[in-house]
Amino acid sequence: MLNKKSVDDINVKGKRVLCRCDFNVPLIDGKITDENRLVAALPTIKKLVADGGKVILCSHLGKPKGVAVPELSLAPVAVRLSELLGQEVKFAADDVVVGPNAKAAVEAMNDGDIVLLENTRYRAEETKNGEAFSKDLASLCDVFVNDAFGTAHRAHCSNVGVTQFVDTAVVGYLMQKEIDFLGNAVNNPERPFVAILGGAKVSSKISVIENLLDKVDTLIIGGGMSYTFSKALGGNVGNSLLEADYCDYALKMLDKAKEKGVELLLPIDNLIADDFSNDANTQIVGRGEIPDGWEGLDIGPKTAELFANAAKTAKTVVWNGPMGCFEMPKFAAGTETVAKALAETDAVTIIGGGDSAAAVNQLGYGDKMTHISTGGGASLEFLEGKELPGVAAANDK
Ligand code: AMP
Repeated sequence: MLNKKSVDDINVKGKRVLCRCDFNVPLIDGKITDENRLVAALPTIKKLVADGGKVILCSHLGKPKGVAVPELSLAPVAVRLSELLGQEVKFAADDVVVGPNAKAAVEAMNDGDIVLLENTRYRAEETKNGEAFSKDLASLCDVFVNDAFGTAHRAHCSNVGVTQFVDTAVVGYLMQKEIDFLGNAVNNPERPFVAILGGAKVSSKISVIENLLDKVDTLIIGGGMSYTFSKALGGNVGNSLLEADYCDYALKMLDKAKEKGVELLLPIDNLIADDFSNDANTQIVGRGEIPDGWEGLDIGPKTAELFANAAKTAKTVVWNGPMGCFEMPKFAAGTETVAKALAETDAVTIIGGGDSAAAVNQLGYGDKMTHISTGGGASLEFLEGKELPGVAAANDK
């Protein structure tokens, strides 16, 4: 359990509460195309409103890099949040985020009112955790709530810096839920505990592999990263994704798995293509039997069955990274078979954010999983066993 104070441990009646949310939603022509992150933020906002706080929301959106980019304004989020909450969310349109509009709007607030500030990354100091912007944010509030799990692995003004200038800093319900689910799965799992890793690169998941080998009963490695393991074992991988510098590391991990008594499953066959395209010619070959000019873009059917069966025997499954280039339908079968196995099991199933969450949702299995994390990078760092700065900054219980 999280040992940080939460919104349940404080009294916000009549207080100005700055709540850092993760409203980093995809926008196309000003329209929000996926509002999962807005919906995930509602319980904390509703709680603060019900308790009579003056609720000042803030978030980043995209990467405006310290400049007021109009397409990355949070204005559309204020409109949609107003609809979702059935209550006005007043938008404070200041390019400097904490400017005359924000100050006047906060000044005029009654208990239970909601104001949304402009994109925090319009300020260059935000991502540098600069003092001036942290102080500006703190000047607006009496209490700080961090509910932005998606940025918890970053130390920025709006989630870490601000806490130095506010007496009370707590976490919100979403943050609490993410940490509880991920924390329980990794540190206190019901066994057998199976982790499934995929995605493009070994190099981006080195620490995850190392950390999980200390925790799991079975580690499954698929996706682009599996070819580095195949190569390390002496196989031919053709034009597949390969990080030749990591072959030694891959062998070390295979040894570590043996030492720890962890079953490490690699693909036994692959769906290969003569082009990185949905129109490519394809064939299925065994691991390490990929001819020159061909590349592995998905696990093969025998592997999909092997991985799905391993997942079915588990009581806890954590999954991060697709099994192939699932964005192209021709190479989505492996990812889909694994997703379906997870959807059908009674085990606790935790899906890391980012591509795995997108894949599970795209395939229609989203509501069958125990928990889908709202943070790709943050959930990955959590699986690495790191302390997240955005969580560490909150007051201890
Ligand atoms: P990551 O961000 O490391 O989790 O990687 C996700 C990306 O890896 C997705 O866009 C997948 O299309 C891609 N991917 C998965 N398997 C392969 C593969 N065999 N070859 C190339 N890319 C892959």
